[in-house]
Amino acid sequence: MIIILMGAPGVGKGTQSTALSKWLKIPHIALGDILRKNVSEQTQVGKEAEDFMKNGLLVPDKVILEVVNSRIQENDCEEGFILDGFPRTITQAEDLEKLLGNTSKKITAVFNIEAEYKHLLERIIGRRVCKNCGETYHVLHQKPQNEQHCDVCGTELTQRKDDTEETLNNRIREYEEQTKPLIGFYEERGILITINAEDIKESITERILKHLGESV
Ligand code: AMP
Repeated sequence: MIIILMGAPGVGKGTQSTALSKWLKIPHIALGDILRKNVSEQTQVGKEAEDFMKNGLLVPDKVILEVVNSRIQENDCEEGFILDGFPRTITQAEDLEKLLGNTSKKITAVFNIEAEYKHLLERIIGRRVCKNCGETYHVLHQKPQNEQHCDVCGTELTQRKDDTEETLNNRIREYEEQTKPLIGFYEERGILITINAEDIKESITERILKHLGESV
């Protein structure tokens, strides 16, 4: 099963992907997380991506493609995977089809998750993340039990550098201009499902699973 989650920044792609990954027992591939790790380790990919990410701009397709190509060839991806934050441009979507074409695998479904701007802003500004295990929290809606520390591993929580109102506006512009055209691209292929995200996260997961034919 190959699933793609697309949607504007802050819509909850990461949260949903984590839940789906646990339920479906396939890996969650979050491009943003992979890139942030590369930036913190100052790898070649990290160095190429850093400035784009800091400014809320998309990292060039060529860099992204290399990362995805090597990740989906790993053993844990054999039974399928969940792509979170990829593809984000038509070129990336076409390249993904070519990569999958070589392996005779097919995309099962693309979930287009939607929410209003004010919800995105609220989520982004209040988001706190654990740099160690990737768990996410919100200062109002999903507080950690021990203030400022991750419930899972105890690491101090931080705010992503690009989770500011100014950078969010760039990220939304990139989404509108570069990523939104993918809605038509996947509609044409008959695999697009639109999900409204203004609901509690468990209900959204349930709706997605039902679309996939899973009995929840
Ligand atoms: P995310 O964690 O998904 O919000 O991504 C954080 C940042 O990583 C984005 O604002 C981009 O700079 C970069 N990024 C993540 N995925 C992609 C992608 N598929 N194409 C280009 N840039 C990406």
